[in-house]
Amino acid sequence: MYDVHLSGELNGMYGKTHSADTRKLISSKVKEAVNSPEYILKRSKTMEKKKEERIQQEKIAISEIFYSLQGESRSAGKPTVFVRTFGCPLTCTYCDSMYANTGSDFRQMTVPEIMNKIHEIAPACKSICVTGGEPLAQPHIRRLLQALIAEHYRVDVETSGCIDISNYMCGKDATIYFTVDYKCPTSGMEDRMLPEVFAHVRRKDAVKFVVGSEADLQTMLSVIKQYKFTSAIYVSPIFEKISLETIADFILSHEELTEVRFQLQLHKYIWSPETRGV
Ligand code: SF4
Repeated sequence: MYDVHLSGELNGMYGKTHSADTRKLISSKVKEAVNSPEYILKRSKTMEKKKEERIQQEKIAISEIFYSLQGESRSAGKPTVFVRTFGCPLTCTYCDSMYANTGSDFRQMTVPEIMNKIHEIAPACKSICVTGGEPLAQPHIRRLLQALIAEHYRVDVETSGCIDISNYMCGKDATIYFTVDYKCPTSGMEDRMLPEVFAHVRRKDAVKFVVGSEADLQTMLSVIKQYKFTSAIYVSPIFEKISLETIADFILSHEELTEVRFQLQLHKYIWSPETRGV
C-alpha cells in the first residue's frame, strides 16, 4: 500500500519523459494512492481540522443575547431571542443603544458559542432578531445567518440602510426578513443612506422610518413615492420628541401613505425606556 501522501517518488516521476506504458503505470498508481481509504480519511480529517480552525477564528462582536418580546415591526409582541451585535458605522442623534456602539462592553463569540447561548436561554423559541449596532457590519455575520437558517429559525435582521442587504439574503427562500431603516434628517445620518439598499427591499421585508419632526415626515413621504415599496412600511416616533397625533394626522392626510403602519415601540411602554436586555 502506498503512503497516504503522494510520494516524492511518484511526483518526481511526472517531471521526466517516460514511455506510454510507464506513464500509464504512474497514473494508475497515483489513482490507487488517492483513492485509498487511508488517504481519503486523512484528507477528510485535514479538512475537518481546517474547518474547525476557521470557525474558531470567525468571531462576531456581541453586545448582548437575551429573550424578550419583539417591540416592533411585523413580529411585534412575539417572544423572540435577540442577538445584539456590537458596533455601528452610524451615530444617529437619537440612538437608544449606544452601549452597543461605543466602549468595550462586548464579547467576541464564535457562531457555535452564539448558537449554544440561543439554545440555552430559550430552547423552544424559533424566532430570532439579529440587531445592533449594525449587524451587517460584522464580517462573519453571514455565517451566523446561515447557521440559524439551517436550524429552521425565523430570522429578523434589523439594519440601518447604509449596508447593501443583497449580500446577506442567503437565497430567496431563506427565512430571513430584513427591517431596513431609512434615516430621516433628525438622525443626522440621511446622507449615509444607500439607494441600492432600498432598491433591494423585497415584499417580505420591511422599511422603517423613525421620525421626530415635520421634516422627517416629509422625507418619509418623498422616499415612499420614490421607491414604491412592496414591503411593509412602518413609522415610529422618536420617543417623546414628536406628538403621536402629528404622525397620525400626517399619515391620514396623504393618500400615498395608505400602506404605512404607525407603530409604537412596545418594549418602551412595558419596561422603562432605558432598560437594557428587553
Ligand atoms: S443605526 Fe441604529 S445602532 Fe446605529 S447609531 Fe443609528 S440608531 Fe444607533
